[in-house]
Amino acid sequence: MVEDFEKDQIIVDGNVVTYHNLKYFIVEINDKFRPDTFTQYDVLLLDVREESLLQYIISQVRSHLNPRVYLIPIFILNTTAYDETVINSLSDGTIPSINHLDQIDPKLLDIRARISRINHPKVLSFESQMINRTLNLMYTRGKKKLDPIPYFHSGIGYYYPELSVNFNHRDEITVLKILNTAEDEGLFQSEFHERVYLCNSCHSGYLNYREVCPKCNSSDATAQDLVHHFPCAYVGPIEDFQNSIDDQLDCPKCNKTLRHIGVDYDKPSVLYTCNSCHHRFQDYYTKAKCTTCGTENDVEHLVSKSIKRYIMTKKGESVAINGYINIEKQLETLSGTVTMEIFRVLLQYELQRLHNVGYQTNIGYLHVEKAAQVGGVLGLEKQKELMNDLVQVLKSNLNPSDFVSFYNSSTILFSFVGTDFEKAKSTITEMQSLASRLLTKSYEKVHIGLRMDIVSLKLGSEVDQSINSIVTPLTKM
Ligand SMILES: [Zn+2]
Ligand SMILES: [Zn+2]
Ligand SMILES: [Zn+2]
Repeated sequence: MVEDFEKDQIIVDGNVVTYHNLKYFIVEINDKFRPDTFTQYDVLLLDVREESLLQYIISQVRSHLNPRVYLIPIFILNTTAYDETVINSLSDGTIPSINHLDQIDPKLLDIRARISRINHPKVLSFESQMINRTLNLMYTRGKKKLDPIPYFHSGIGYYYPELSVNFNHRDEITVLKILNTAEDEGLFQSEFHERVYLCNSCHSGYLNYREVCPKCNSSDATAQDLVHHFPCAYVGPIEDFQNSIDDQLDCPKCNKTLRHIGVDYDKPSVLYTCNSCHHRFQDYYTKAKCTTCGTENDVEHLVSKSIKRYIMTKKGESVAINGYINIEKQLETLSGTVTMEIFRVLLQYELQRLHNVGYQTNIGYLHVEKAAQVGGVLGLEKQKELMNDLVQVLKSNLNPSDFVSFYNSSTILFSFVGTDFEKAKSTITEMQSLASRLLTKSYEKVHIGLRMDIVSLKLGSEVDQSINSIVTPLTKM
């Protein structure tokens, strides 16, 4: 009896609660919030009321790299449940206080049993990582459907909580690509839900649709009726017919007074006068101004994407448990590179991750000088082979977690994650001599000049800017 009593006891030690052999950690607002330390606990109890803070904490946990952190059960300590959909999707429930831990026991048991079944294979490609994380989170919560939530804070207007939580809103279009891939691989089935239109330049969904002057794009225009006088066939804006004394309308051409609409005159349409350039027009243009990057999009050039509901298939469920590695194999057999788009997202992701642990990261480049001349001598096939050979040299000298991308047919960019600058610099020198040796041996017909270097990414710097600062001088050579 005594043993049973002790087993059911709730032992509180500061923020740590022990109950039924599980360690609960109570997260409070005044805590130093360190998700890395959550690996020591079995369950998180969030004692936070403020919704945006709550959401921040949940997002940081669910987007953490360590499965022990991103899969951890999260319960909110509150007397009433939140009706915020994202908070609810990414947390596991609400209890009034720690005296009610017994209420969540069955759910916890189920989640923990499911978590224990999951394997975490080492996955190199970013897409695979994201697919695995999404499936893992869904599976451990017994969830089969991934529904898009209309969401104000989402860059594309819709949020798939388990996946979107890994992206900042500028990169959210990648969410749709990853879901497409997962569907193509048979992990999900989908149903059409909605169509969204995104900025052609930055893929943001925050657009301001306006009717604008076809000449100067200003949306500041005044509309007035166009009047058609039947007897003399004069057509002009109503102001041409008005006088300053009374409401009577007189035709400026024939001087007759207009009597009855429909009988001696009508108003066939509306005429707009631009208040900015004074241009007069009958049909305005519709433009969508992006409130994120400022681009003035023609509506026909907006990026149109379908937003779908996804349902996990049997294959998806099996992959949730065993891990997903297919895409990566495909990429590796292709050439071991990722697209520039993915490269940017990965770097951004790494920057954020490394920022949290106080590391820096570097981008390296390898550029083939006078590529057009080289191509002219070698021919297209041989030149492709050359670039592939160079990628192999890079890959064999980089960490498996580093990623390589073709910026264009003569420049390769690659990451040097978590390596300090000096060490990276010396690795570069080695790689360059290795690559040069390979070139003189395999491609004797032509002299191929290589330029290689690295640039360190400052914390908080923009990935796009850093890439441009590398590439711009190269294109001018
Ligand atoms: Zn007239
Ligand atoms: Zn105008
Ligand atoms: Zn934009």
